[in-house]
Amino acid sequence: MFGVVIADSLKDTQMRQIRFENVSKSFEGEEIISGLSLEIPAGKFFALLGPSGCGKTTLLRLVAGLESVDSGRIFLGDQDITYQPIFKRRVNTVFQQYALFPHLSVFENVAYSLRIKREKEIFVREKVFDALKMVHLLGFENKNIKSLSGGQQQRVALARAIISEPEVLLLDEPLAALDQKLKEKLLIELIELQDKLKTTFVYVTHDQSEALTVADKMAIMNHDGHIEQIGTPKQIYEFPVSRFVANFVGNTNILSGKLIDVDNQPTVEVKGLDRILVYIQAHKNWMILGCNLFVSIRPEKIFISKKEISGFSNHLQGRVDNIIYYGRSTQYSLMLKNGKKLIVFEQNEEHFPQEVIDYDDIVNLYFQKENVVLLQG
Ligand code: ATP
Repeated sequence: MFGVVIADSLKDTQMRQIRFENVSKSFEGEEIISGLSLEIPAGKFFALLGPSGCGKTTLLRLVAGLESVDSGRIFLGDQDITYQPIFKRRVNTVFQQYALFPHLSVFENVAYSLRIKREKEIFVREKVFDALKMVHLLGFENKNIKSLSGGQQQRVALARAIISEPEVLLLDEPLAALDQKLKEKLLIELIELQDKLKTTFVYVTHDQSEALTVADKMAIMNHDGHIEQIGTPKQIYEFPVSRFVANFVGNTNILSGKLIDVDNQPTVEVKGLDRILVYIQAHKNWMILGCNLFVSIRPEKIFISKKEISGFSNHLQGRVDNIIYYGRSTQYSLMLKNGKKLIVFEQNEEHFPQEVIDYDDIVNLYFQKENVVLLQG
C-alpha cells in the first residue's frame, strides 16, 4: 500500500514537468524561438526571466496551446502535448489583464469553468469557497467585479485559474499592473499558494527582482530567445555565466581585463588600474593565460571607506561622483583612476557611524577575491 502511494505521488509529480525539445517558432518570417530545449521541474515555482520581446509569452502560449510550434516537441510529464487541443491540456493561465467577466459576481467568475462542465451546485459551492479561501477572498463572493481593487481582481483571476486543479499554472506578468507594495504582498501570497497546491507554476516576467523573489528555479532568456542560464536564484545571482546575465539579474560592475596568472594566484590586469586578485571556483576552458575577459563585482560586495582597512584581497581607489540616499542603503557612484565608473551599495546601519563620505572625496574600495566573477571576453 505504502509503495503504491509513493509510486502514485511520483507519477503525479512527473506528470507536471514541462519539457521543450528543440522547439522553434516564427512570426511573419522572423524566428522568435530557435531550437529551444528546456526542462521545467514538476511541482516547483519556476520563473522565466528575460527582456521585453524575447519570446517569454510565446513560450507560455505554446504550452497553453494558444500557439503551435513550427518544429520540436513539448511534453507535460511523459505526455506529448505538442498538438493536443487546448481543452485537453491540464494547464491554466493568469494574464496581466485579469480578463474577468464584469457582469458576473466574484462567485460566478470563479465558478465559470465548473458551470461549463455542468457540475452539481453543492460541488461548485465547495470548490469556489476553497479557491476563494486560497486567495484570501472569503466574504467577497457576492461582490461585483468592478467594485474590487486591482489586487483583488487578480486574486479572483487566480482563484478562477486554480479551481479546475490544473497540473500547470502559467503566470504571464500577473502583477505588472499593480503598485510596488501590493506587488510585494501578492508575490508572497503566490509563493504560499504554490507551496500549498504543489502545482507547477511558470512565472514570466522581465522584472529580475520578482523572479529572484518567487523562484525555486529560474531561466534567463536573452534578446535572441535563447536560454543563457538555468539555476536557483542564488546560483544565477552569485555565479552568472555571461555578461548578459550578470547585468540583467541585479546590478553589477563590469570591468574588462586580461588574465595574467591562472595557476598560482589567479589575477586580472585591468587597464589603468591596480591588479585584481580573483578566485576561480570552476575552471572553464576559455580561462587561459593572457585571455581577455570581464570581471563582475556586485555593488554590495564592495566596502567603501576613507580609512585604510586590512583583511581584503583587493583595494582600489575612487573619487565620489554621486550619492543617492535610499534610507536603508546608500548608493555611491565612483570614478576610478582609469576613467571607468563603479557603483557601490552600502547598508547604512553597517557603515561606520562617524564616517561621512561626501562628493569628490577620495575613498578606498575594498572587496574579496571570492566576490569577483570572471566572464568570458
Ligand atoms: P514582453 O515581456 O514585452 O511581454 P515577451 O518576451 O513575452 O515580451 P513575446 O510576447 O513572446 O515576448 O513576443 C516575442 C516577439 O514575437 C515580439 O517581437 C512580438 O512582437 C512577436 N510576436 C508575438 N506574438 C506575435 C503574433 N501573434 N504575431 C506576430 N508577432 C508576434
